[in-house]
Amino acid sequence: VGASLARIQATDPQVKAFLHVNGEQALAAAKTMDDNIPSDAGLLFAMPGALKDNLNTKGIPTTCASKLLQNYISAYDGTAVAKLQAAGAISVGKTNMDEFGMGSSGENSAFFQTRNPWDLERVPGGSSAGSAASVAAGQVLFALGSDTGGSIRQPAAFTGTVGLKPTYGLVSRFGLVAFASSLDQIGPLTRTIEDNAIVLQAIAGYDRQDSTSANAGVPDYAAALTGDVNGLRVALPKEYFDTGLDPIVREQIEQAIQTFEALGATFGEVSLPHSKYAVATYYLIATAEASSNLARFDGVRYGVRVEADNLLDMYKQTRGEGFGAEVKRRIMLGTYALSSGYYDANYLRAQKVRTLIKQDFDRVFAEYDVVLSPTAPTTAFQFGAKTSDPLTMYLNDIYTIPVNLAGIPAISVPCGLANGLPVGLQLIGKAFDESTLLRAAHAFE
Ligand code: GLN
Repeated sequence: VGASLARIQATDPQVKAFLHVNGEQALAAAKTMDDNIPSDAGLLFAMPGALKDNLNTKGIPTTCASKLLQNYISAYDGTAVAKLQAAGAISVGKTNMDEFGMGSSGENSAFFQTRNPWDLERVPGGSSAGSAASVAAGQVLFALGSDTGGSIRQPAAFTGTVGLKPTYGLVSRFGLVAFASSLDQIGPLTRTIEDNAIVLQAIAGYDRQDSTSANAGVPDYAAALTGDVNGLRVALPKEYFDTGLDPIVREQIEQAIQTFEALGATFGEVSLPHSKYAVATYYLIATAEASSNLARFDGVRYGVRVEADNLLDMYKQTRGEGFGAEVKRRIMLGTYALSSGYYDANYLRAQKVRTLIKQDFDRVFAEYDVVLSPTAPTTAFQFGAKTSDPLTMYLNDIYTIPVNLAGIPAISVPCGLANGLPVGLQLIGKAFDESTLLRAAHAFE
């Protein structure tokens, strides 16, 4: 923990991964643990980690990088946070993010921009910008992020780290500030696959406080890291290798395919024909759910209140001043999509397309063990490159979004450099088959 804090002190003035560092508290916890090492101390005992700032932490600010929650301190720890603590891990602080998880670059933080440790002129990806940057900068051994449409995997790809979005329902969402409840999942960002398996082990499992938590049992993930992918059946979806893919990214992915082939994996080309509707579907479902989830930030119960003469003006001014532009855009889009008369044409239709997207994956997984694709169409881009046009920003998640809509797990693994910047390889798996993803990624690593 001391080394982690020293590293943060040395590098965070440039990287700016953290919104809040609880150094004294973390050191005190570590000292107490040092004096009292139990004989059954696990692998996470006294290990320093970081938490995305949309994870509720008792007594420590949870701002979601929003002005509206600038002063908010949760009264409880979320389940994933509590489980990590129970496993002995020590959180050294809360990481920067796109406000409420809405973004792909970290630039939508209300407070400041986190920089990519590989090139300080470039974004670290988002929305789990600080979590990814912190791991990449060697400030912590692991970080938790959340992934609604790619927010763990895309920043992992941009920073050369490992990022896993678990199956929907594997990790409890209790204590995660909701963005789009049917898509959100908490997951680990780490430097290695083994670390990822260890952190996943600690946070996975049934939780009665999350009504969508799955009662599925948690296998021994580290035991899956055999190094063996002989006979692994890998599907290559042709829609994920189309013209939108930057050729320098494609080259690295093609080399990765050759490595897997040399390790004994077999390949086949498949089609996921409805994936082309995924971004449009996502931006209806995610904004609809966000408009409903964010209704709770009314100046009465949480965070900052802007005083006004009457209740309605208080609501309006609090939300008007508290939310950033992207959050407002999403609330308006979602409210429109859900409004009476438009519901059937927009939201209901999006739900139907979502089912078609899931069925595409079901068909592929009847014959294959994993799907392989790039994580993102490009490497880390420069600050400001996509901020003027939200649609080009949205398209950076084209390969990650279908996975959230289908509820299945996927991991981004570092796969070489292109022009000196990390490229991420995405492996997508069957529901609750994180073991196969980790095994394949580990063999490749
Ligand atoms: N970039 C996507 C969005 O802006 C996904 C974000 C996320 O996964 N939280 O919604």
